[in-house]
Parts: sequence; structure tokens; C-alpha cells
Amino acid sequence: MESDILNDENVHLEKDLKFMKIRKLNRKIGDNLKLLYGYRCQICGQVIGEEFGSYIAEAHHIDYFVKSLNNDVTHQMIVCPNHHSIIHDKDSVFDRRRAMYIYDNGEEQKLVLDYHLRGQALQTGGLEVQ
Ligand SMILES: [Zn+2]
Ligand SMILES: [Zn+2]
Repeated sequence: MESDILNDENVHLEKDLKFMKIRKLNRKIGDNLKLLYGYRCQICGQVIGEEFGSYIAEAHHIDYFVKSLNNDVTHQMIVCPNHHSIIHDKDSVFDRRRAMYIYDNGEEQKLVLDYHLRGQALQTGGLEVQ
């Protein structure tokens, strides 16, 4: 009985550790992407906060991470906080072929910046910007 509980906890611990590792790697890829795009939103091209000496960009998982668990660089993109909120609020669909976001009111926004999604010219190894 006691050892059962212990085993159970070990399994949980292992899962947690694995998840933490993925999260850490994920942050690194996101940070590298931010550098690649110079903190510009791929949808509107803006750097938010620049005039205040602040650079606010967010890494978004195109296929939501919780669903896909896919951490590949081609599953992330850099967006400003506004577009990030809108994408999540409206559950917008990303059309990879046309490199655009499609909103449910019919609005479409083509990416103004795309160095790593379309054609996938850059692989993960190419993003080791320090
Ligand atoms: Zn934006
Ligand atoms: Zn997101």
C-alpha cells in the first residue's frame, strides 16, 4: 500500500519534470524567435512599447500547445499583446498555405513578417541566435 503511493508520486514527479523541461525549451525557442523578428509582431509588424524603451512581444503557439504538445519552432510565432489576445479571444484559424489569420467575422490578416513559417526556410538549428 505504502509503496503504491510512492510509485504513484514518482510517476507524477516524472511527468512534472518532463513538462518543465518542455516549457523551458519552449521559452528558449520563443526567445530566439523574438530576436529573429526584432520583437516585431508578425501580423502587424509593430514593436509595442518601443517608444518607452520597452520591447513587448509574445510567442504564440499556432496549434495550441496544450492540444498539440508540439514545441517545434514552426509551431510558434511572434505577436504583439493585442494580436495575441484577439487570436485567443476569437480562436482564429491560421491558414499556413496563405500565411494569414482568418477571423470568424470574415476578416483576414496576412502576415507582414514571416521568416520561418512559409516555406520553412529556417530550421530550428538556424535560430540559435544568442
Ligand atoms: Zn500585432
Ligand atoms: Zn498564444
